[in-house]
Amino acid sequence: MRAMRLTVPAEILEKPLQITHLSVPEPGPGQLLLHLQVCGICHTDLHIVEGELKPPQLPLIPGHQVVGHVAAIGSGVQGWQTGDRAGVPWFYNACGTCRFCIAGRENLCPDAKFTGFSVDGGYAEYMLSEADSTLHLPETISDLHTAPLLCAGIIGYRSLKLSDLQPGERLGLVGFGASAHLVIQIALSWNCEVYVFTRSEGHRKMAQDLGASWVGGLEETPPGMVDRAILFAPAGSMVGPVLEKIRPASTLAINAVYMSPIPELDYALLYGERTIRSVSHAVYQDGVDLLEIACRIGLKPYTNVYPLEDANQALQDLKLSRINGAGVLVL
Ligand SMILES: [Zn+2]
Ligand SMILES: [Zn+2]
Repeated sequence: MRAMRLTVPAEILEKPLQITHLSVPEPGPGQLLLHLQVCGICHTDLHIVEGELKPPQLPLIPGHQVVGHVAAIGSGVQGWQTGDRAGVPWFYNACGTCRFCIAGRENLCPDAKFTGFSVDGGYAEYMLSEADSTLHLPETISDLHTAPLLCAGIIGYRSLKLSDLQPGERLGLVGFGASAHLVIQIALSWNCEVYVFTRSEGHRKMAQDLGASWVGGLEETPPGMVDRAILFAPAGSMVGPVLEKIRPASTLAINAVYMSPIPELDYALLYGERTIRSVSHAVYQDGVDLLEIACRIGLKPYTNVYPLEDANQALQDLKLSRINGAGVLVL
């Protein structure tokens, strides 16, 4: 099978992913072998490829927004048949027995594994998944439109939940990439008003087209304070300026698996019982819930399509904010 594999992390301009020919893996007990159609790209992939996030072993096949069909089934698997549509998100599996797993917070399991990080992911023609944490995909959403839902959508949805957004409130989105352009569609379906803070002209236009009621830069003053905010940019320097824009007793959720250091904050920015919280991965049920919402509200990702061999180019475009919506590799 063909795969785009990382051996030595480097700046994306140096094209660290290399096309490699590997034998197709065999599913072990409890596993599925998936024949892949598409795989989304994500900022987390960029952090891995450039070496800011260090995977437990190299070489590694990245990719964690995986859409395919079941090609073979390992022993002891129930609930799956050959040919079923299947999706694999960032969360790969967890121990199932620790206090976090038992409480339904398996995203915090100390032994949790992540797709395209702890194990090989979807920048390839085939991959193995754990049957119990693989998502059944609805037939009503195309492969291309499903892939971005599996990280951008799921993590965005968890960020919305952790921001405590209530119907009718005003939401601030800081950064407007793949995740935010899906979050805005869900928030609007809850009758919320949305302000978008982003520098990229392309992202500003997309935010307006999708229904943002105000679009501008973080240095600007919007017409009112927001009730909740989600920060998508992995820039700690933005935390203070975002806190200036949220009302007392509100929440700032930080949707980033990696972030540059947060500079010293004036306590007055946090005073008024404001909460800052991180969003750490997502649980299996978030994926089930997000796919149900996507079908119900007609959630539609904007996609930019690349062939598998152009994965380096796709990640470079992502880094330079040249992608409006979500980048997707077609296998
Ligand atoms: Zn991701
Ligand atoms: Zn656990």
